[in-house]
Amino acid sequence: MSQRVRVRFAPSPTGPLHIGGVRTALYNYLFAKKHGGDFILRIEDTDQTRYVENAEQYIIDSLEWCNIPFDEGPASTALSNPSKGNYGPYRQSERKHLYKKYADLLLENGWAYIAFDTSEQLDAHRKQHEEEGKTFIYNWHNREKGRLVNSLVLSDEEVQKRIESGENYVVRFKSPENETLILEDEIRGQITIDTNILDDKVLFKSDGMPTYHLANIVDDHLMEISHVIRGEEWLPSLPLHVLLYRAFDWQAPKFAHLPLILKPVGKGKLSKRDGDKLGFPVFPLEYKNEQTNDVSRGYREDGYFSDAFVNMLSLLGWNPGTEQEIFSLEQLIEAFDLSRVSKSGAKFNPDKTKWFNQQYMQQKENNELADLFAAILKEKGIETELSFVEKGIALVKERAVFVSDFWKLSHFLFQTPETYDEKAVKKQWKEQTGSILEEVSSVIESIDEFSSGHIESIVKEWITNKEIGFGKVMQPLRLSLVGALQGPHLFDIIEMIGKQETLFRIQKIRSELS
Ligand code: GLU
Repeated sequence: MSQRVRVRFAPSPTGPLHIGGVRTALYNYLFAKKHGGDFILRIEDTDQTRYVENAEQYIIDSLEWCNIPFDEGPASTALSNPSKGNYGPYRQSERKHLYKKYADLLLENGWAYIAFDTSEQLDAHRKQHEEEGKTFIYNWHNREKGRLVNSLVLSDEEVQKRIESGENYVVRFKSPENETLILEDEIRGQITIDTNILDDKVLFKSDGMPTYHLANIVDDHLMEISHVIRGEEWLPSLPLHVLLYRAFDWQAPKFAHLPLILKPVGKGKLSKRDGDKLGFPVFPLEYKNEQTNDVSRGYREDGYFSDAFVNMLSLLGWNPGTEQEIFSLEQLIEAFDLSRVSKSGAKFNPDKTKWFNQQYMQQKENNELADLFAAILKEKGIETELSFVEKGIALVKERAVFVSDFWKLSHFLFQTPETYDEKAVKKQWKEQTGSILEEVSSVIESIDEFSSGHIESIVKEWITNKEIGFGKVMQPLRLSLVGALQGPHLFDIIEMIGKQETLFRIQKIRSELS
């Protein structure tokens, strides 16, 4: 690759960023970093009717949470070196003044024309075509027939007059007739398109605003973008984009269209509705719609680790060619290759997402998890030494998917059980149980070296000598300490809560149940 790799993520700030968008950003980032290039965030906000106030900040916060920083982006918010390069501003609304000149260039060289048709006129054409069982396309087959009002059929004076009188107009691209375009996509290979099926897309409007197509191509060119990596939904725009590069006589970047992320069940693209129905988020962060006050769940707020989330996303459409599933961001940069991105859609699997979180949970350092869990404990009014929290986490971590699971897995390490599982009591609490526990209690009281292994050997030796049967002792003992027949190794619990609390809990259950 001779040209410096420069890629961009170019979202429109129209609402929260769907996980498909996060994956696009991620693949762009991985590709850029793999090739020692730049990852650019460009905000495509030319469509003011769809503009949503907090969406840009949401996008930036999401990238930050995912730890995929951009090298260049909106100046006030770039995460690293905002002034690197000379390609700003990075919001299209702030680049508005740039685009007219390019629309004019296309008009001058005959690749575009001015059209005055009003939306009512266009609607009438559409309606009439529909009635005749046809589809109305504004292009070569009707643009010069006289029924459409444009600079291809009007005289120059007439065009000038209309513009000067303030009539609204648009600049349309003049798609070539009878040509077979051969397009290259890094993921899909060659795509052949007959230009006769293309419509003459609007590039610019008389209000001074470019449309997505013009702004996108001009900016990719001015920002020296080498590779356009974006979602499959933009594939239909590819012929026009390639033609625009030709019309400007610019070298086109390479294109790669990523596969869709599909619903877990059924067919089609993963939507927010699927998430609502099946109970998982489709957005990285929680999002509040200011208009409706509707709050959408986010992976962050649902307790996912961002590295687990990113790892899961990386494999939705790309595979490393090996069985490896757990990748750090550095490993992803190393392994990522566009040629291993699949053409077909990737089915989203919410259970797999949980699996990733659990895997990451096991890898995390206990002291890191202790900080997170301590915050939850604090909310419950429990403040304990971090080393104690850490020790508790080591006991239950194996079964936790989220940090929030720690409470239900280990609450008995932090507080005396208030109630006892009724079913367990019915099954385990026999006539002689109270007195057995009284005896165990004095055995435990006599132990000086209060370590799990030592307590275990003494208590087990006592049970063996007494010939009581393990279940008769261990189950009620567990019930007294945990409140249910659950939890980690019993002697580890005893060591953690200490002798005094152990004896207190045995005493408590005896007085409540005997
Ligand atoms: N603004 C487009 C979007 O919202 C960008 C498409 C592209 O990357 O060219 O996804």
